[in-house]
Amino acid sequence: MLKKAVGVEVHFPHSQLACWKCRAAPSDLPVCSRCGAVQDFPDGLSHYETLGLGPSLALNEEELRNHYYALCRELHPDQHIDKESRQSIYSLRWTTAINKAYQILRDPIQRSQYVLQLHQVDTAQLKPALPFKLAETYLDLQSDGPMGKEIFEDFKKEMLAEIVKNEQQWDPIARQFDSGVDRPSVLRQLAQYMANQKILSAMANDLNKRWKE
Ligand SMILES: [Zn+2]
Repeated sequence: MLKKAVGVEVHFPHSQLACWKCRAAPSDLPVCSRCGAVQDFPDGLSHYETLGLGPSLALNEEELRNHYYALCRELHPDQHIDKESRQSIYSLRWTTAINKAYQILRDPIQRSQYVLQLHQVDTAQLKPALPFKLAETYLDLQSDGPMGKEIFEDFKKEMLAEIVKNEQQWDPIARQFDSGVDRPSVLRQLAQYMANQKILSAMANDLNKRWKE
């Protein structure tokens, strides 16, 4: 059903279970293609699997949107209004999981974090790699002391340049991740990108706050 709705091949890896209602095996997810009953949401589906997508980091946004809306239509309460409560409960479980998956995968930063988590990459100890002067001025900025306008402007310029530089890393990393070549090295690069992104975004926030004062 989903296949027809979005015009793409959709694979649900956990769909080998027989349909609870008509016992047809294997059934499709989330709705049995034979009897139309909503199936339970299987434990342990990744956000990608929940939306019937391959584990792509670059992720085609249109494809993501199409999958999401096709699933929403399929699980819409109006479609199941006359059905028993078991199906309403399953439908609600799917809808909750689909919304959560969409919310995370549509945002490249949250998606990157999720991909690192899926591959059990520990990012807690990772230090951002920023130019020394930028990091040093940031410490001064945090000390809340008086700051000359010139230093402030310099810091802003350098920070914006660093944000652009870091952002330019993402596309090549995502492409290489999706190619499947040298995954451990790509995951390290992705983790470093995220560590830099985190501190740069904190810097930009702090700068905005001080700018308003
Ligand atoms: Zn069935």
